[in-house]
Amino acid sequence: MATFVLNYMNRFVCLGGVCPDICCRDWPVHLSRQDLDILLAAVRQDEAGRGDILGHILVDAMAEHRQFTGRIRWNEANECPFLDGQRLCDLYKRLGGIAQPAVCSLFPRSFVKWGERLELSGAMSCPEVVRLLLDSDDPLIWQARPDITHHPRMPPQDPCGGREQSPWCQQAMRVRNMLCHFITQTTYPLASRLFFCGLFAQQTFPDFVSDGSSPAAENQLQQALQQLGDASIPAILHQHWSSIPVSLPLAQAIIDAIADYGAGSGEINNPFFGRLIQEVMTGYGSTHAAAIHETMSLRLYALTPASRQWLDQSFDRFAHHFLLQESILHYRDVPSYVRRLVVAVMVCRFLFFGMLGQVESTLSQEEQLIKVRQTLMTVFFRFSKSFSHYRLDLSQLDDLPKLLMFLRLW
Ligand code: SF4
Repeated sequence: MATFVLNYMNRFVCLGGVCPDICCRDWPVHLSRQDLDILLAAVRQDEAGRGDILGHILVDAMAEHRQFTGRIRWNEANECPFLDGQRLCDLYKRLGGIAQPAVCSLFPRSFVKWGERLELSGAMSCPEVVRLLLDSDDPLIWQARPDITHHPRMPPQDPCGGREQSPWCQQAMRVRNMLCHFITQTTYPLASRLFFCGLFAQQTFPDFVSDGSSPAAENQLQQALQQLGDASIPAILHQHWSSIPVSLPLAQAIIDAIADYGAGSGEINNPFFGRLIQEVMTGYGSTHAAAIHETMSLRLYALTPASRQWLDQSFDRFAHHFLLQESILHYRDVPSYVRRLVVAVMVCRFLFFGMLGQVESTLSQEEQLIKVRQTLMTVFFRFSKSFSHYRLDLSQLDDLPKLLMFLRLW
C-alpha cells in the first residue's frame, strides 16, 4: 500500500506541555481490547504505581465485541489524570510509548484507506494543525511517504468498507477530486463555489450511495462527471450566482436553528458547540439575520486588503482541507458530505465575525492582521473541536438548497 501525506503534516510536531489547548481533556479516551492488554502487561512491571494507574481505568465488561472496551476516567477538571505538572503524559514517561492508548499516540493524525492508497492528514481540532495549515506554503499537496504507515492498533478508516470494486468506491475518489477542483477555482468567490458544489451534489448524487446504488444512478453519475469536464458549465453558474434571491425569513430560520443548538434545545450532543454559539451571539448583540448580516458586512469592509486577502485564503484552505480530510468518510452519500461542508464554512464565517468584534481603526495594518489571524485560528480550532468529533444533528438545517441560498448573505 502506498502512503501519501498532506504536505503540512510533514512538519507536524506536537507542542506538548506548551500547547494552548491540550488534547488530553474534554474528550473521552477510549481503549481497545489490545490497548488494555498492553497497558495491563506494562502495569504488572510497575509494582509501585499499579493501583494509581488502574484506579483511573474503566472497563466495560459488556463491551467484549465492540471496538473499544474501556476508557480513562477523567479527573474533576475534565482532564486526563495522567497529565503531570508539566502537562506531559505520565503514563508515557513511566511505562513507555507502547503503553499509551492508540488514540493518544495517533492524535491528531488521521489515516484513511482508499483501496491501495493510504492517506495521512491532520485533525483541525489540534491548534498546531490549524497553524500549519494556514501558515505553510502549499499545505494541501499530497506527498508520497513510503516510510509511514498507520498505527498497528488502529486500522485506518476505510470509506469503501473493503468493497473497493463497488461502483460507489470506484467513483468516490473521482467525485472527491472533482469537488476539490471546483472548490479551488479561486477566480470565483468561495460562497459561489460552495453553492456550485452543493447544487452539483444535490442534483447528481441523491441516489448514488455507498450501500448500493441503482444502475440508473450510476449512469446519471457517469454522464454528470463527463459533462462537468466542460468548464463552461460551472462558469455560467458562477456568473449567475449573485442574482439568485435569498429570503430574509429563511435566513432568520437558519440563524434560529444555529442559536437553538447553542441554547441546548436542538439535537446537539456536545456542550462545547452550544457554549461557542452562545458566546458569539452575545458578540453580535442580535439574533436577527438582517442585523447579523449588516454587522458581518461592516466588519468585513473595515478590514485592510492584506487582512481580507489572508482571510479569503484561509477560508479557501479550510474548505479544501475539509473536502480532503472529511471526504466522504462518515457520510454514505455525497449531498450529506457537501451539506456538512457548507454548514462548517458558514458557521465558521459567522463565528469569525462574531468573535472578531469591532474592527478598531486605531490598529495598524500589522496589528489588525495579527488580530484577524489569531481570531480565525481560534475559530477554526474551536469549531473543529466542537463539531468534528461529535455528531451534530442537522435536521433543522437539513435542506441543502435552503442552506445554499443562505450563502447569498455571505
Ligand atoms: S492538541 Fe495537538 S499540539 Fe496540542 S497537545 Fe494535542 S496533539 Fe499536541
